[in-house]
Amino acid sequence: MNSSLPLIEVALPLPLDRTFHYLVPPSLAGQVQPGIRVLVPFGSRKLTGYVLSFAASSNAPRLKEIIDILDDDPLWTGNELEFFRWVSSYYLHPLGEVLKTALPTGINVQSRKGSCGELSGGRNIRREAVYLPGSGTSPARALGAKAAEVLELIRAEGEVSAIVLRKRFGTCAPQLKRLFELGLVEKQEREMFRDPFQDETIERDTPRQLNSHQQAALDIVLMRLDKREYAPYLLHGVTGSGKTEVYLQAIAQVLKTGMNALVLVPEISLTPQLVHRFRARFDDGIAILHSGLSDGERYDEWRRIRRGMARIVIGARSAIFAPLENIGIIVVDEEHEASFKQSDGLRYNARDLALVRGRMEQALIILGSATPLITSLYAAEQGKLGLISLPERVRGIPMPTVETIAMQGIKTTISPRLHQALDDCLANNGQAIIFLNRRGFATFLVCNECSQPLTCPNCSVTLTFHRGRGQSVCHYCDYTIPAPGICPACGCPELKELGAGTERVEHDLRELLPQARILRMDSDTTSGKGSHAKLLSRMSDGTADILIGTQMITKGHDFPGVTLVGVINGEASLHMPDFRSAERTFQLLSQVFGRAGRGDTPGRVFLQALNPGHYAIQCAMRHDSNDFYRQELEFRREAGYPPFSFLAAISLSGTAEQAVEQRSDATTKLLMQIKHELGLRVEVLGPAPAPLYRLRGRFRRQILLKSPVRGDLRHLVSTWLSRRETTGIVREIIDIDPVDMT
Ligand code: ADP
Ligand code: ZN
Repeated sequence: MNSSLPLIEVALPLPLDRTFHYLVPPSLAGQVQPGIRVLVPFGSRKLTGYVLSFAASSNAPRLKEIIDILDDDPLWTGNELEFFRWVSSYYLHPLGEVLKTALPTGINVQSRKGSCGELSGGRNIRREAVYLPGSGTSPARALGAKAAEVLELIRAEGEVSAIVLRKRFGTCAPQLKRLFELGLVEKQEREMFRDPFQDETIERDTPRQLNSHQQAALDIVLMRLDKREYAPYLLHGVTGSGKTEVYLQAIAQVLKTGMNALVLVPEISLTPQLVHRFRARFDDGIAILHSGLSDGERYDEWRRIRRGMARIVIGARSAIFAPLENIGIIVVDEEHEASFKQSDGLRYNARDLALVRGRMEQALIILGSATPLITSLYAAEQGKLGLISLPERVRGIPMPTVETIAMQGIKTTISPRLHQALDDCLANNGQAIIFLNRRGFATFLVCNECSQPLTCPNCSVTLTFHRGRGQSVCHYCDYTIPAPGICPACGCPELKELGAGTERVEHDLRELLPQARILRMDSDTTSGKGSHAKLLSRMSDGTADILIGTQMITKGHDFPGVTLVGVINGEASLHMPDFRSAERTFQLLSQVFGRAGRGDTPGRVFLQALNPGHYAIQCAMRHDSNDFYRQELEFRREAGYPPFSFLAAISLSGTAEQAVEQRSDATTKLLMQIKHELGLRVEVLGPAPAPLYRLRGRFRRQILLKSPVRGDLRHLVSTWLSRRETTGIVREIIDIDPVDMT
């Protein structure tokens, strides 16, 4: 082995908490640089590794040489690699796996072998021919009519793609060939970027005249822009207060200074309006990253960003890893949304990482919400986030009034009071939204004889009855049986439907209001590509009267025609076994209420509930975030939950119940032992059965770690990770709770 060969540090996508050293053979010397992928030998396998840096020395006993390089140009900059190192160490997740997660899936389907590098070639990259005017000067009249027309278009446009020519002239290959031979046109191969919006036409939009609150908000953030320093803000603005307009104008200023913008949204397919507003406001250079894209589209967007062809990146949580350089501003819209948290593999929270990346980039950060996280409000109170408020709706539009309907003794899904209100609303040409956070027809079927509910054999839940499909379905593992069927316990053929879902609400509303044009939006009706946008556009263009839906309908939509919002089973989310259930309920209800009365007619909300007395419901009804914050903070303080503690959960699961039990006990013991040995201030709670004890056939237990000192918590978890022996029978997942990154 030649010790004078260059030495590199490589991260491998393996569940190992370390990096590896490899040598670069002379044939590849000069081609290796940090940020590219390389093919390396690992045991008897060949793996894709990520080059992190050149290393001065290694104490590995035997160094191997890399086999090949997989990229000509780096996938990441040094800054980005530093960010990924931070992510890896914070979430205690192997760096190689972090890097793999950060790449678009489309990039992994190809290897460089036989082509010329990821960013410049490969099977997943589409190419197209474009034609440009050539330098030939033969008289145009020597050409046929069609060829002359083709030439005229190419000269007029300066550059025309083969696709456009085909659309305009049909087959014109012979003409192009002739023009080419005469030197009148030139042909070039171009990389083509699949455009997810190619069919959309956008009407231009100009900045709105800001009201005084918006202007004050904009002034505050822009003041910090010149300084080019880390400046995190919480923009707390009631629903319809014009937060988006503030983002748009702040971003416009950032772009003027030559810097770029990253915008994180909970889920793009649910918020086509927001993307539309960006596209209407900014001329070009917008890249969109989200789960609805095909692998190819996503890879194209990624490459456009990497090459600096996009100035604005809008995306769901994974966009926090976008290869955008020179970031001047990061906006996190609806910062309270749980969907910023990734719950598989690398369990990161994009809202938190926005603060981390923003600090590394010295960027301005705006976390926007009508219902910020309790922890964000607390951070603002502590001066760690600048607080900006938009306390009123734009144009003096009032917040909607909220009335509760006590459901004791009412047997129907839609109460007479709500029915009446819907009637009135439609009679006045208003639109309505009905929210119920459960899909299906009935949330369970119960046997009339033995009273046993139909349950899933793999999960500890009841099966949901879907009447349209004629099936009972488990919403966790998709276990499906024909419905209604017979009781599996006693064979009785009579099953009672209990607990209404959105399908039931739709059914009942169609009976109550046969004239109304009713839409339902939940994951059963939105599986097709673009189906969200289609449903939502029918609300915007007024061809629908009532939109029924799950939480999907609560997010950020701006339908000025909606004057009525009905909430069915308003307290449902309070009963979740989670210390955040009150917070989630307040957020969910406030967001749903906020859909009402955004146009010129004031909005009305009707909330059906058995017990609406809880402070989360009461505060949402009064649109009183401050009161909710005070009460919830008090509860957190008493119970020792965030922001007064840091949490981590270790979940253990397996198909053998006893093995899971034994392993949880042993894990708890080891944690306690480490805690005492190192004198760490951490409460070790459990092991306890997880709220959903059986899930997809696996038994689940969890251990909760709680500490007032973040360092102690991390020390405990990382020590445990280094000491434990993995068994393979029981899977262990560590979840570091979103904590204060400010
Ligand atoms: P939020 O994001 O706070 O819910 P939006 O930014 O969606 O609010 O604004 C609500 C509506 O008010 C949108 O239709 C938006 O175009 C409009 N709007 C925002 N700012 C202004 C303004 N200064 N003047 C008039 N209309 C505005
Ligand atoms: Zn199931």
